[in-house]
Amino acid sequence: MSGTPETETPFRKGLLVCVSGPSGVGKGSVIDHVRERTPDIAHSVSVTSRPKRDGECEGVSYYFRTKEEFQRMLANGEILEYDIYLNHYYGTPIAPLMELIQAGKDVLFDLTVSGSLMLKEKYPDAVTIFLLPPSMTDLRKRLICRGTEKGKVLERRLLEASVEIPKADLFDYAVINDDLELASARIIAIIEAEKHRYHRQIGIEDRIMNG
Ligand code: 5GP
Repeated sequence: MSGTPETETPFRKGLLVCVSGPSGVGKGSVIDHVRERTPDIAHSVSVTSRPKRDGECEGVSYYFRTKEEFQRMLANGEILEYDIYLNHYYGTPIAPLMELIQAGKDVLFDLTVSGSLMLKEKYPDAVTIFLLPPSMTDLRKRLICRGTEKGKVLERRLLEASVEIPKADLFDYAVINDDLELASARIIAIIEAEKHRYHRQIGIEDRIMNG
């Protein structure tokens, strides 16, 4: 559908798909899996004030900015949604994103729960998906296995999860991550169905009638 020649107006605007979920739910793995299976889907490069980690590249992993630079971008209206996570700013720059969707490119995001909600408020056409663990017991097990959080930090993550999970009703879709393949397949199915919503397909009857 969006595979029209670059110069032509696309038959539909690109879709904004945001996936959120509590820490430890396996969001990163599911999103990577979805991307592997849907190579046409674009990635929005976020701006962050957190320090660059080994192996991360400017403009690919993130745009790395100071806290002051981030706040300036925010004040200038250059950020569509943002959140503060572990004392660092994370936000979606508007301009490159709008270029992508106007060109008919679908974009998949990995946002914090409040980031997805802010995005939906500002851009109601976005599709928001909440990724859930099968149970709190399972989430605890996953966080323990991951080994990156221990003791009080682990308990804090679980407490945050218990505050975030009841917000699932504010999302368009709730997907349980009981199995990587299944959860990814569900998200791909959602994306496919959303692309076919009538209101997204600009002038579909005219194209058929005049074709
Ligand atoms: P990390 O520091 O591990 O790269 O990212 C931490 C969290 O920040 C991720 O789980 C992701 O959900 C969130 N994040 C990344 N970019 C953005 C963004 O642009 N906006 C919001 N709201 N959250 C983001």
